[in-house]
Amino acid sequence: MSEMQTIQWFPGHMTKTKRQIQSSLKLVDAVAEIIDARIPVSSRNPDLAKLVQNKPRVILLNKCDMANQTATKMWIDYFKKQNLVAIPVDCKSGRGLDKFAPAVNTVMSHKIARLKEKGMVNPTIRIMIVGIPNVGKSSFINKMVKKNRAKVEDRPGVTRGNQWYTIAKNLEMLDTPGVLWPKFDDKTVGEHLAFTGAVKDQILDIELLAVRLLDFIKELKPADFITRFKLENEDVENIDSYELLKMIGKKRGMLVSGGEIDTERAAIMLLDEFRSAKLGRITVEMPQGR
Ligand code: GDP
Repeated sequence: MSEMQTIQWFPGHMTKTKRQIQSSLKLVDAVAEIIDARIPVSSRNPDLAKLVQNKPRVILLNKCDMANQTATKMWIDYFKKQNLVAIPVDCKSGRGLDKFAPAVNTVMSHKIARLKEKGMVNPTIRIMIVGIPNVGKSSFINKMVKKNRAKVEDRPGVTRGNQWYTIAKNLEMLDTPGVLWPKFDDKTVGEHLAFTGAVKDQILDIELLAVRLLDFIKELKPADFITRFKLENEDVENIDSYELLKMIGKKRGMLVSGGEIDTERAAIMLLDEFRSAKLGRITVEMPQGR
């Protein structure tokens, strides 16, 4: 995962980031919060609501190509109940991005109506993108810019260094996203971020991580996982996750000299396959009980 961006957050850095985002927020009417559809809880910044305060927000459940479709629908309903507009997108293929501008219009409808009452015809709405590292902010910006390509010319009053792109009729986007920190003091959050590859593997015990992923997969028993490793449902029931990791390694012929199973290689392979959705479209976090 060479392209992976891992930021070491420390208090000074967080304060600086917060200040930068606060100043960008002054320039925009609404915010697009990008999260990972497989881990909609762990991929959210805990302080975002406080930061954006009463600015309208659209949630983009990104990487929905790798998440379970039913689960994504449930998450959209969950957010709707909280008066939040969420849409599923796949910034790799661009699927769902045509729903973005309409979603912004929905969350901005009151303000647009008010501006129209004041005599402003077709007011321009400005938005910024925010999210924790690796959720797909750059992918989203690149896709939106490529699709539309219109750079907004320098405008008086706009801080130098800020570039705007027209991404739909009367909709402009700030080119630099706000990069926020995840909730890193929670062990489960850390694990779930690591499952998806949002945290560097070097700082984690890869075999332990694979075992934790198998703990979760064992409960779910996704059909793709069972067939991929030529397992039986019974193989997955009542088995210790480390034994299951060994079983998987053996099935793939991952042996070290002496005939022992190379569990480290098996762990790397398992996580790789999870991260590229080869084990199926798996959503790790569900809205129930939240
Ligand atoms: P950022 O750190 O938030 O800017 O995230 P990036 O845009 O760099 O994306 C991180 C990784 O996720 C890259 O490898 C992207 O190709 C991948 N990615 C982004 N969006 C999607 C998506 O919707 N589906 C899939 N499968 N991969 C995605």
